[in-house]
Amino acid sequence: MKEHTISSFEDYKKVYQKSIEEPEDFWADYAKTFDWHEPWDKVQSGSFEEGNVKWFEGGKLNIVENCLDRHLEERGDKTAFIFEPNQPDALKRTISYETLHEEVCKFANVLESKGIKKGDRVAIYMAMTPEIAIAALACARIGAVHSIVFAGFSAQSLADRIQDCDAKMLITNDGLRRGNKLVPLKEISDEALENCPTIESVIVCQHADNEIEWEEGRDEWWHLLMRNVSKEHEAVAMDAEDPLFILYTSGSTGKPKGQVHTCGGYMVYTSYTLRNVFQIEEDDVYWCTADAGWITGHSYIIYGPLLNGVSGIIFESTPTYPDPGRLWEVVEKYDVTHFYTAPTAIRALMKEDIDYVHRYDLSSLKVLGTVGEPINEEAWHWYDEEIGNGECPIVDTWWQTETAGIMISPLAGVTPTKPGFATLPLPGIEPALLDDEGNEITETKGQGNLVISNPWPGVTRGIWGNHERYMDTYFNKFPGYYLTGDGCRRDEDGYYRITGRVDDVLNVSGHRLGTAEIEDAIDDHKKVVESAVVGYPHDVKGEGVFAFTICNQDIDDPETFKEEINDLITETISPIAKAGKVQIVSGLPKTRSGKIMRRVLRKVAAGEADDLGDISTLLNPEVVEEIRAGEAF
Ligand code: ATP
Ligand code: MG
Repeated sequence: MKEHTISSFEDYKKVYQKSIEEPEDFWADYAKTFDWHEPWDKVQSGSFEEGNVKWFEGGKLNIVENCLDRHLEERGDKTAFIFEPNQPDALKRTISYETLHEEVCKFANVLESKGIKKGDRVAIYMAMTPEIAIAALACARIGAVHSIVFAGFSAQSLADRIQDCDAKMLITNDGLRRGNKLVPLKEISDEALENCPTIESVIVCQHADNEIEWEEGRDEWWHLLMRNVSKEHEAVAMDAEDPLFILYTSGSTGKPKGQVHTCGGYMVYTSYTLRNVFQIEEDDVYWCTADAGWITGHSYIIYGPLLNGVSGIIFESTPTYPDPGRLWEVVEKYDVTHFYTAPTAIRALMKEDIDYVHRYDLSSLKVLGTVGEPINEEAWHWYDEEIGNGECPIVDTWWQTETAGIMISPLAGVTPTKPGFATLPLPGIEPALLDDEGNEITETKGQGNLVISNPWPGVTRGIWGNHERYMDTYFNKFPGYYLTGDGCRRDEDGYYRITGRVDDVLNVSGHRLGTAEIEDAIDDHKKVVESAVVGYPHDVKGEGVFAFTICNQDIDDPETFKEEINDLITETISPIAKAGKVQIVSGLPKTRSGKIMRRVLRKVAAGEADDLGDISTLLNPEVVEEIRAGEAF
């Protein structure tokens, strides 16, 4: 794996330079390491202005051949997936590359026998078991476009996503168990399908053994279809720019957008980023705790690890079942070397008894990663010291559903890190900061709208069925750039720190303040577990800072507490950012991927809680009631 893996900081600087000067050569060099049915005519064409970026046009390939077939000779017996089910004591199940290949070929034949063809959309609403990967890969093998919907979504959210892409088939389970909870996936699917006329067939994979209803002629069992089906399947050769999948964003800022990713560019980008950011080696055991229903699961549980021929873990349960030591138990059990999770999980586990960590031997760990939100410094240090024993590089990876793979991040052990910073761009990625008028900030040190100046292979090719929204969201505001929607600060070393979403930026007395840094300062208070800040209308300042905090103990003296918080803010940021109002809450409104939905808090803070907008992706709507009823001081 040494080839195309950067090994030192000096090397990084050289490779980065080349990748920016000669991007087509750089990406073509790496793309050549894959199996193609036909080579491409043009490495890159199209532009951000036109919203028609293409990579490897004319090339033909199948991504699944590159994930599986390509490894059979050398790694057929190697474990592709280790499955860790909800119940910790259940039998261990591992799947080799050879077996996975067989299962995918069989299921590809099943899909074809049900009339699914290249270009058809297939919705997948499943538990986190190897079958979710098999379903997705079988779609990709026959050229059908998968749309995985996170299994925590409601019937309405599932129906919305099926309708948006006119899916022809739904693949689901009877149900799933997460912790002690049963989620009746088939029942939820039945409800969703009352309003989805495009769905012709439903395949049900038996898993939780819960009772379900059956619609003859529409529903069929996975295991019955898989009997007596051939293990041979010839993968469909796809154009590099044919769609591979549609995936909806998490909906933190509004109605989810169905991102379209294509076969060639997605393959090249996810594979390259995994091997370089994580510095993965042949015998590593790689564990990304995300759900396959999010982009992190697509790129770093399914496609990225398989493209690199490594062994990965598919984890069905939750970090706190049966107790808050579960993640560390699994690390010990499988000698996990690479562990990738979200700050929200780290913050939740940090407040538990440290004995849950100390009980387990974590010495197999080599690299730790985070994704999804800015990680506050306190959580970063806890992760570093308690989980990594001060010896594992932490990669704080910034990227989006739209980007396909990691964009700004340290390369483990290669890039010197700074807590709270996503650090430097990956090769082939040219970030820039723009002021609100669209002028590029040319000084190294600065703050502004984070944009990307050059096309990279993984950039979203569209919002399904809505080119206008695609152009408006990413390309029209600052022509020639891809707009990320995130605010960012660059320090004197050129290191990038995400300051929060631009939509969430506060404007206090003319000063623009990002949410991340203020929250970082508040989280440093020993009684604060997590916080979220938003602006509220203020007569004099325009906006004041409103801080919602979750505390780990009762606050007897709110005024002193507020002063202490404001001292921390003054010390690390500026007195301008001091909180005018503080409210203690038991939870924060979060999306189903664990991110704070600040726009809901903003409405509450402004006294407009009657009109919350689209909150269908909210995990815990009940907390909104509590927050609305609570009082600030
Ligand atoms: P929507 O676009 O529908 O509002 P979303 O942005 O939450 O949803 P995702 O694509 O899952 O959907 O999340 C990407 C966003 O997550 C980024 O734009 C950024 O705001 C945040 N993010 C991801 N990783 C990091 C990180 N390492 N540091 C800071 N922020 C991050
Ligand atoms: Mg987004």
